[in-house]
Amino acid sequence: MSKQTYKKRTVPDHESQLDSGPTAHAGNAPLSPIATVHRAIAEYRRWHTARVLDLCQHIDMEGVREYEYPEYEEKCRSYADQADEMLDQLISRLTAAFGLPAGESVTVLGTNFQVIPGEINEQARAAFSSGQCHALAQALTEITGWPAAAVLSQQCADEYDECGDGQQTADGVCICRIEHIVNVRPDGSLIDINGAHPADHVQGREPGLPIVPMTERLWRIVSANAEWRDPDIAVARSFVQPLLASLDSDDIHEAKGA
Ligand SMILES: [Zn+2]
Repeated sequence: MSKQTYKKRTVPDHESQLDSGPTAHAGNAPLSPIATVHRAIAEYRRWHTARVLDLCQHIDMEGVREYEYPEYEEKCRSYADQADEMLDQLISRLTAAFGLPAGESVTVLGTNFQVIPGEINEQARAAFSSGQCHALAQALTEITGWPAAAVLSQQCADEYDECGDGQQTADGVCICRIEHIVNVRPDGSLIDINGAHPADHVQGREPGLPIVPMTERLWRIVSANAEWRDPDIAVARSFVQPLLASLDSDDIHEAKGA
């Protein structure tokens, strides 16, 4: 299960972090690495100044005016949240501009797994079969065009009233039923970090589970759901070519058990 417990912040996924929020920039043409850094410096200075000027309104020679303290504190909290979000965006932009550290292990976002980008080993298989399967599926679709599909549990955890309660249900699927996300190769085989599986069954999972296409609407509820981690697309992308190369040489029977 790709589950976690922390509360999701307002920006739902990796892609929108790049293009929204306090550090958003006009136009989506990729910047050179140096221009990315220069823009981040300029944006930070602008944001920092706006914050200082705003907070200064509540301060006189003695410090923060007592009766304005609650408002001042509320603003400080809100700026701290913004700063946190900006750091995430900055790291995403630097990763897009410079890539991941070559040959060094990096933490898979939202997990305790350390992987070396591009090296599919046990840690990578564990991280991307439970927790970040949706990131790999997105990266695979992006690079190969192979559509993503969800492996579902037989029914919603709540047998009487879907636990997703409308908001977390799309195309008749309650979000609690999504157990795993894979890609469908043109020959019908299901592809995940462990390799190729038959069209109707992912090894290591209960046989006979329903498999449905990941529609736009299903992706939307996954992106918005606090229990699904933000997808680590940067690390996922690094595994696509090695995975495709292993599929070329492997037989369908050789998928590593999940
Ligand atoms: Zn449910």
